[in-house]
Amino acid sequence: MSPDHTDLWFLPLGGCGEIGMNLNLYGHDDQWLMVDCGVTFADPDQAHQPHVQMPDPAFIAERADHLAGIVITHAHEDHLGALPYLWRRFKGRVYTTAFTAEVLRRKLVEFNLAGQISIDVVKPGDRRQIGPFNVEWLNITHSIPEPQALMIRTPVGSVFHTADWKLDPAPVIGPPIAPKIFQALADESPSAMVCDSTNALVDGHSVSESELIPGLRKIIENSRGRVVVSCFASNVARLVTLMQAADQTGRRVALLGRSLKNMVSAAKATGYWDSKHRFIDPFDLGFFPREHFMAIATGSQGEPRAALSRLAKDTHPDLTLEAGDTVVFSARIIPGNELLVDALIRALKARDIFVITAEEAGLPIHASGHPAADELTQMYQWVKPELAIPVHGEPDHMAANAKLARGAGVTRQLTGQNGDLFYIKPVVGIRRKAVTTGRLGWDRDALIPVARS
Ligand SMILES: [Zn+2]
Ligand SMILES: [Zn+2]
Repeated sequence: MSPDHTDLWFLPLGGCGEIGMNLNLYGHDDQWLMVDCGVTFADPDQAHQPHVQMPDPAFIAERADHLAGIVITHAHEDHLGALPYLWRRFKGRVYTTAFTAEVLRRKLVEFNLAGQISIDVVKPGDRRQIGPFNVEWLNITHSIPEPQALMIRTPVGSVFHTADWKLDPAPVIGPPIAPKIFQALADESPSAMVCDSTNALVDGHSVSESELIPGLRKIIENSRGRVVVSCFASNVARLVTLMQAADQTGRRVALLGRSLKNMVSAAKATGYWDSKHRFIDPFDLGFFPREHFMAIATGSQGEPRAALSRLAKDTHPDLTLEAGDTVVFSARIIPGNELLVDALIRALKARDIFVITAEEAGLPIHASGHPAADELTQMYQWVKPELAIPVHGEPDHMAANAKLARGAGVTRQLTGQNGDLFYIKPVVGIRRKAVTTGRLGWDRDALIPVARS
């Protein structure tokens, strides 16, 4: 199965029909372009399942000499987390922007792959010819530094690949959404738009990252004791917002958790961290009056070994919480993690620690990084693709996304799932289950030995 010079194909091996483990392939003229290579985290209740799961890359591994290159759109685990595990199976050159490259390099060190993978660092707005694919990187807004959409051009057709996005006029880090970038694409009538469906069932417009300060400040101001805020470590903009809220309320900030320290260090290395935002050492927290500091902790999803779970069990080496202290969830609960998060909240409340979740806060203290219905409609109206291909969602999300595309004037929509082959050129169509797909899994504790084999 090989695309010829008249074909433009899309083949998702992961992330289509599910949220997580994205692995997309584009095919043209006997070559394939990989876009993203991510993991998914299994339901923690399913103790028999491997914790880290990823798409089976057999299809592209079998034709690795036809892989033109690998583009990583942003540094979220569901877009780059599988690369260190799978790269040896297909060994392509990697193209990505500086922050994502920095996060990736840190992972490669852990897998003994540092120096083995060629990483081309590109800038937003750059274009690269990767085999027969001309790829342009386009700044978009999301919930991590340097999110990129892609315009992928071939002689027979083009694809606007949104990756993860929202329309944020004030994203705190990085440039605001620039409509003209996307409006300009309409001039060349993209053959297809492959689009994030995560929040297609949510009405309206996402909250801007910049709107969270009042809610967070109010909670911190009203707290008499220690304050611990948990959020996703990769949301560097949220960390900046938290630093500002702490500053405005006279509290110093400490980071608890390795992934937070890693992300801040990647942000520093790539110029996304203002040196005025300084942290106190967690070791010193014991010497600070309880109302004079705030800790930012990993573990908003109830992960048993993360800082927040240790605080709940009072086994954290640097910090002990007491009755009257406050724990804030500046994050949403990812479906599947409800039981773990519930148990964590119960453990905190049993010790008379106040718990404030994003749902209960009154004012917004969390902003989604994905487009709600109005944003999807807006983007379809800007880009005017000939065909909409919803991805990054469960079937309900993708169906809702397709409906919005239709409503926005996109005449054709195709929804499918992993392993379906989407024909974009010369004629639009879909071949169901064209490729066998599957999942590979590793237990977290077996990462390095298995990855070496
Ligand atoms: Zn994603
Ligand atoms: Zn993302």
